[in-house]
Amino acid sequence: MNQQSTAPEREVLAALDPAMDWLTETYKQLHRNPELSFQEHASSRLVSDQLKSFGYAVQHIGGTGMVGVLVNGEGPTVMSRADMDALPVTEATGLPYSSEVDGVMHACGHDVHVTALLGAARLMAERHDAWSGTYIALFQPAEEAGGGSRVMVEDGLVGKVPRPDVVLGQHVMPLPAGTLAIAAGPVLSAADSLKITVYGKGSHGSMPHMSVDPVVLAASIVLKLQTIVSREVKPGESAVVTVGALNAGTKSNIIPDRATMLLNIRNYDDDVRARVLAAIERIVRGECAAAGSPKEPEFELYDRFPLTNNDPGVTARITDAFTSHFGQEAVHLAVRQTASEDFSAIPDAFGVPYSYWFLGGSDPEQYRAAANRGTLDADIPANHSPFFAPVIDPTLAVGVQAQVVAAMAYLGGRMPSINS
Ligand code: ZN
Ligand code: ZN
Repeated sequence: MNQQSTAPEREVLAALDPAMDWLTETYKQLHRNPELSFQEHASSRLVSDQLKSFGYAVQHIGGTGMVGVLVNGEGPTVMSRADMDALPVTEATGLPYSSEVDGVMHACGHDVHVTALLGAARLMAERHDAWSGTYIALFQPAEEAGGGSRVMVEDGLVGKVPRPDVVLGQHVMPLPAGTLAIAAGPVLSAADSLKITVYGKGSHGSMPHMSVDPVVLAASIVLKLQTIVSREVKPGESAVVTVGALNAGTKSNIIPDRATMLLNIRNYDDDVRARVLAAIERIVRGECAAAGSPKEPEFELYDRFPLTNNDPGVTARITDAFTSHFGQEAVHLAVRQTASEDFSAIPDAFGVPYSYWFLGGSDPEQYRAAANRGTLDADIPANHSPFFAPVIDPTLAVGVQAQVVAAMAYLGGRMPSINS
């Protein structure tokens, strides 16, 4: 598997085998003790203690956020990021190391990310003779809530650590363990949630002529919103506009005075995003005017996730390193996901390029069998499922190797591929 690796990369990865027991125990400890967004106190303490023991200079940045810096001579600066939070899900995996916290579970695999990055941080420190430059391991709070990376940026991240030349990130996914998926360009969508309140005029249900009915107004808006994706977004571009909640009224015989809608909007391009948001506002204002609404509608954007748009040069260089190390058959072209991440807020704050890849976590045999039956969706639990259970072997080892190989593509003196 490692035959094509460079000598410095092999040198760092030689420290992996002796670290495997520690890595497995660290993972189980995190998995047993999941913490919700912005409450990652124990996880953050664990990260901090470990980083210090490896010789990193450690700083708290942004609540439970934690950054370890290892300055190791001249050379590039590589930052890698892991997220630490868990979800309000009751674990149903039946694993011996299941969550010990009621109603909270690492159902998105962020415990895998923390463990893999800690593992890489340990290896890079133990074998610092094999590379030169600066390695930064960043652990952010609250990815699921969408605000964690922004909180770190607002707490002065950019001024507190060396400016990276490149930022890396990975996410465990329901792909066969032992494989990776990576692609240049947009890999995860930008996402916005939008609360819209429209106003009518309340009345008795028997006297509709005395009212401006916000239920009819909202219904009309919901239908008209369907024309944005079908009529305004260019074929070949893509967007999602979902009305996830629509609330008005309390009783059958009362016409209420307002209606609220909660929308979720996703796309892969900042121009499309701006056009879709503008179209929503135009349609809502137009429908309110048509209905004779007595008061301007209100719009409130929340839970906003930026686009994850992998830099082509960085991604080519890392893909090249992955392919050399893991072999062509283990490295796949990532399929664009409609899921979203707040990872890119960190490289964007520094104004530097990044690459974010997917790490397989599903049992390869089960995956192959389900793929053959055509029942992947039904039989392979995805992120956020109470049954989501990445297999420890080889997911953790591959997660550490991916972090090290990607970092060493910059720090180990490897010649870049022709594409970078
Ligand atoms: Zn998640
Ligand atoms: Zn996640």
